Amino acid sequence: MVSKRNQSNCNLSYFDYNWGMNNVKEITSFLDNPSPKDLDLIQKAYAFSQKAHEGHLRKSGGPYFDHLFAVAKNIAELGMGVSTIAAGFLHDCIEDRKTTAEDIKKEFGDEILFLVEGVTKLGKIKYGGTNRYNESLRKFFLAVSKDLRVLIIKLCDRLHNMQTLEFLPKEKQLSIAQETLEIYAPLAYRLGIKKLQRELEDLSFAYLYPEKSKEIKKIMKEKRGEVEKHLDKFQKSLKKELAKNGITDFSMDHRVKSIYSLYKKMQKYKENVENIYDISALRIIVSKLSDCYKILGIIHGSWRPLPGRIKDYIASPKLNGYKSIHTTIFTGDGGIIEVQIRTEDMHKEAEHGIASHLSYKEEGVAGWIKELIEYQKEAGDEFVEGIKHDFFEERIFVFTPIGDVIDLPKGSSTIDFAYAIHTDVGDHMSGAKVNGKMVAITSTLVSGDRVEIETKKSAKPNQKWLPFCKTTMAKRRINNALDSKK
Ligand code: MN
Repeated sequence: MVSKRNQSNCNLSYFDYNWGMNNVKEITSFLDNPSPKDLDLIQKAYAFSQKAHEGHLRKSGGPYFDHLFAVAKNIAELGMGVSTIAAGFLHDCIEDRKTTAEDIKKEFGDEILFLVEGVTKLGKIKYGGTNRYNESLRKFFLAVSKDLRVLIIKLCDRLHNMQTLEFLPKEKQLSIAQETLEIYAPLAYRLGIKKLQRELEDLSFAYLYPEKSKEIKKIMKEKRGEVEKHLDKFQKSLKKELAKNGITDFSMDHRVKSIYSLYKKMQKYKENVENIYDISALRIIVSKLSDCYKILGIIHGSWRPLPGRIKDYIASPKLNGYKSIHTTIFTGDGGIIEVQIRTEDMHKEAEHGIASHLSYKEEGVAGWIKELIEYQKEAGDEFVEGIKHDFFEERIFVFTPIGDVIDLPKGSSTIDFAYAIHTDVGDHMSGAKVNGKMVAITSTLVSGDRVEIETKKSAKPNQKWLPFCKTTMAKRRINNALDSKK
């Protein structure tokens, strides 16, 4: 049982914590040059949370505080600052305990309260399980998060919940794993937090497709053994070759592909594992950018590269900001190996994504927008541009009676909502309820509204609706219906 969860090498399992290891130093050791004030804050949040959750147990029967400790540690590991770590300790105490917002404000101030309340709000969003609205739900998460630190806390919370999912009933396991795979892991990907994405995907995959997951693990094990034999030999020769050329300032390690990404890749290659060369790759990390290209030259000078497999993601980074050079070479003894070359900064960014851009010494809520803009400039990331523009300023997010999220332009009315659900619903709309109360059909919606549309067979669109529509779709449908009446 224990070993199953210990596969995640970066996070201690629930049982490890039971050995009385919840030592605050495990968390503060991730801080880079913390001030006495920083250390005090972490210690205080630790103690406050422990007290607030006294006697509170998890489904596993263990102390609830273990969860908060694990979440705070996940956050610290991503290199986040002390306010975010403190909020990690406190993220469940308003929802689950008698702690009030006032208490937190008094002890920790507005910024930490803002983060805790943000996480509490996100916890209230229900996942309907219908694919159609997943994109809206992901956008909604971003919008209500306002501050991306909230989203990072939520992702770290979900990671620990996934790591301890075995204590929940089967049915819950499946729905939580599904939600994780469809909503949380893609969010981690878009924020470029590879480390979280990988773990969230592999854990969900094992619950959702246990047979497939076992099969892939088996293939991985067989293939890995074979590749790593070549890899060890290649690594030794390469070190010599680099030394000959005066390059000594580097580190090397093996990167093993995640189970879920191998699964996806196998689907792409129609299950033919022989076409997949990066199950285990050699990663070279250097301190100077120019060394990346020097090393690439040295490798290609001595080993023949596979055509079409040289990728310079430094010159053209991936959309989520990923930077590295990849090449795949013939080792000369029958092996084929992928090599990834990058600087330390690129490596940190590849693992921690946007978390590595959110300032370590936090500047507060206003600072993050600035950093987001910086990040976007650097990464040329149209996604981040999208967050800034659409989601915060131009969109609203409203709910169907069963909790699906619909995103609409700001100023949309219940008519826009009805057409977003289905043309027939719009065409036969006879009334609307918002948050359980009857309202005029032309009412403007705001984010968070729960909207219910009433229809009648005899009801028809009306010319007078048009000024109350924001979406092109609603306007077009109404015009169509009016035209066909003529
Ligand atoms: Mn939690």
